[in-house]
Amino acid sequence: IRILGIETSCDETAASVVALGEDAPHILSNVVLSQIEDHAAFGGVVPEIAARAHVEALDGIVEAALADAGTKLSDIDAIAATAGPGLVGGLIVGLMTAKAIAAAAGKPLIAVNHLEGHALTARLTDGLSFPYLLLLVSGGHTQILLVRGVGDYQRWATTIDDALGEAFDKTAKMLGLPYPGGPSVERTAAAGDATRFAFPRPMKGEARPDFSFSGLKTAVRQAATAIAPLSDRDVADICASFQTAVSDALGDRVARALARFREEYPAVDAPALVVAGGVAANKTIRATLETLCTDNGFAFVAPPHALCTDNAAMIAWAGIERMRAGLLDPDAMDFVPRSRWPLDSVSVPVVGSGR
Ligand code: ATP
Ligand code: MG
Ligand code: FE
Repeated sequence: IRILGIETSCDETAASVVALGEDAPHILSNVVLSQIEDHAAFGGVVPEIAARAHVEALDGIVEAALADAGTKLSDIDAIAATAGPGLVGGLIVGLMTAKAIAAAAGKPLIAVNHLEGHALTARLTDGLSFPYLLLLVSGGHTQILLVRGVGDYQRWATTIDDALGEAFDKTAKMLGLPYPGGPSVERTAAAGDATRFAFPRPMKGEARPDFSFSGLKTAVRQAATAIAPLSDRDVADICASFQTAVSDALGDRVARALARFREEYPAVDAPALVVAGGVAANKTIRATLETLCTDNGFAFVAPPHALCTDNAAMIAWAGIERMRAGLLDPDAMDFVPRSRWPLDSVSVPVVGSGR
């Protein structure tokens, strides 16, 4: 199976060709154009700018992905495109382009849920088998998912307010650090004292499994206001204290999920936690999660950074998984992009049924 994948749900314009051979899958090409510079001046992703940038770039990116893979459209078995969730302007650009290519080439279209792409990446990179846990921490999502099979997911936790990447971005903005906030907070924190500010660990110890980060953001603002004007030292200490609070809060939530997995799947003897999303690049957070996994007998699986952040190889791969499992939706050409599309509602399409 050989699939062309297209991803345009946020601020990356991406296309990729992935093939499944006799033995293992191969990423034949993986082209990603980041729009970070287009949005940097605004301190966040501007939907209208993102949509226009996708329109301008996508044709060329698709051509580059096919050329890099040394593949012609006629050698492709299907086109897979992100159909949600995400910014609707970008989704329309990607899905409509995919529909046009599918129609022109006479190939099937697969409308992929972006989160399913993240959820299945560890099977592309590490050949992981079901079931496993996924921690997705990005600019738009903070979730713990149980991945039971292709099209079979259960959301165990989500954020009740901000996403974790968003909390990093807002904290950076508040402190006058450049966008994207995650890398700048991490860089600045390296020189700081993580014990100086006792920021809250939202949700820690609570029975409800979810995340929350807005209280932490408020605590950072209050601390910063109280000691303004801020010296470089102050900013570094705030970043370090914030990062430690976040890691600690995250660790508490993930520990709960690991325990629940053990309870529900006592027979799985090599359980695994997979991380995905841009925040997974953070070394403090990674170290916390890795220790937690080791202590609890879980494998810690972190796919390469380029496949953890938004990319089209994961979308092409999700298409391969769906095709191989016989889960192609016969009505895909009528699929309307969905800005909201929870992963646990992604079910097996019943042939001939309406949606
Ligand atoms: P989506 O949420 O739809 O998947 P996104 O573009 O927001 O899309 P990613 O590209 O996966 O998600 O991740 C970007 C986020 O990751 C940003 O919020 C950024 O600040 C954060 N991030 C990147 N590097 C780090 C880091 N080293 N530490 C913490 N956060 C980071
Ligand atoms: Mg992004
Ligand atoms: Fe993503």
